[in-house]
Amino acid sequence: MMEEFQVAVVGAGPAGSTAAEVAALAGAKVVLIDRKSEIGTPVQCGGFLPEVHELKGLMPRARLPATLVEIPERCVLHRTSLQRIYPPSGRSKEFPVAARVVDRRAFDRHLASRAARAGSRVLPATRARLDSGRLLLSGRFSGSIAPQVIVGADGPSSDISRSMGNPKGEMGICIEYEMADVEIDAAAAEMYFSTRYAPGGYAWIIPIANDMAFVGVGVRASYLGRAKVPDLLDRFVKEHPQASGKLRRGEVLAVMRGLVPASGSVGSLQKEGLLLAGDAAGHVMATSGGGIPLAMVAGRIAGEVASEHLKGSAMLAEYPSRIRDAFGKELERSVRIKKMVEVAMHSDRLMDALLGALGPQQIKAVMRAQIPAAWPKVRDHSEEPSADDR
Ligand SMILES: Cc1cc2nc3c(=O)[nH]c(=O)nc-3n(C[C@H](O)[C@H](O)[C@H](O)COP(=O)(O)OP(=O)(O)OC[C@H]3O[C@@H](n4cnc5c(N)ncnc54)[C@H](O)[C@@H]3O)c2cc1C
Repeated sequence: MMEEFQVAVVGAGPAGSTAAEVAALAGAKVVLIDRKSEIGTPVQCGGFLPEVHELKGLMPRARLPATLVEIPERCVLHRTSLQRIYPPSGRSKEFPVAARVVDRRAFDRHLASRAARAGSRVLPATRARLDSGRLLLSGRFSGSIAPQVIVGADGPSSDISRSMGNPKGEMGICIEYEMADVEIDAAAAEMYFSTRYAPGGYAWIIPIANDMAFVGVGVRASYLGRAKVPDLLDRFVKEHPQASGKLRRGEVLAVMRGLVPASGSVGSLQKEGLLLAGDAAGHVMATSGGGIPLAMVAGRIAGEVASEHLKGSAMLAEYPSRIRDAFGKELERSVRIKKMVEVAMHSDRLMDALLGALGPQQIKAVMRAQIPAAWPKVRDHSEEPSADDR
């Protein structure tokens, strides 16, 4: 026989553990459920997390949870100070971005242990399935619970989001290696744009030590053609004109895969007793694929709204507007920018023209979902008839 819980959080990633901690600290009886046997494992992330002042530039109106501000050193693998962007031409541009690279295995366990210390019950190795307002649990812990509030923080393939009627939006398909013995610039996180290596997305090198890095590609299915994503990553490592010299002699220690929502917020964030937070809600910046900060801000708001609702001081229906106030504009703008660069994503010449026309600070602004006052007009002339054809 399962205990009674007021709030059930499905998914112990950054969104879910934050929601559980906040709701439990406010006095709610909370259960945090994850199907993973070991919370945080397997890792499906690069862990790139801008420092607090950068996050304030990214989401100026959001209240950052303390866990996003003070991250224990044991959860930080490395720090970078630069972001370097490689257009297809290889002529790179860089700008300062102070960032931590977190060890998601340690960080997710840290967040879940904080939720536990705040009073949440934690159920690993347990799958939750929504059935007529109840949660059916199976695995290590089994049974059925009927909490007043369910927070769906169950990641990019969220069943709870689907059950609320949200369609499956476009996803970035990612594969990432942890590599050792690479010859990288340990101060710089690098993004590489090219239709040959990362169609519809980008490839990245995120340093985790002086000679170690997460190296990945994130692509979109609609751009992929017949290419296979693992082959693209191998091609990037072995053949990319600028990256292969840094990576070719390295060794792969781990392979990680995962999906990243690429269409911005889902339409319905709240329905009856259900709230969605993090990847489950599409809370990922479409310009960068970064989702950790938004997931944690959304988790905080979900935990607050859930506990206030139990005390009678808020309605669950307030949740979507609180999310909009925190980072709605920035998230929407990131999707608009993604649409604006859609044409350039199909053509290396256009991507070169676009990134060539923007200065480093303007590229930084675009990554932060700010639209520059003068957006460069780039057109693909390759399909227009030339003077000879006329
Ligand atoms: C390869 C890759 C690299 C990335 N790199 C970065 C990066 O460098 N920086 C960044 O900011 N973002 C990055 N992201 C995105 C980032 O990982 C996500 O945005 C972030 O993890 C979202 O947190 P979340 O809590 O919403 O979801 P998740 O971290 O996905 O957690 C969801 C949890 O729900 C659990 N779950 C799912 N269904 C059930 C169920 N039915 N029952 C019980 N449990 C369930 C899962 O086991 C999982 O633990 C990357 C993503 C990928 C795939």
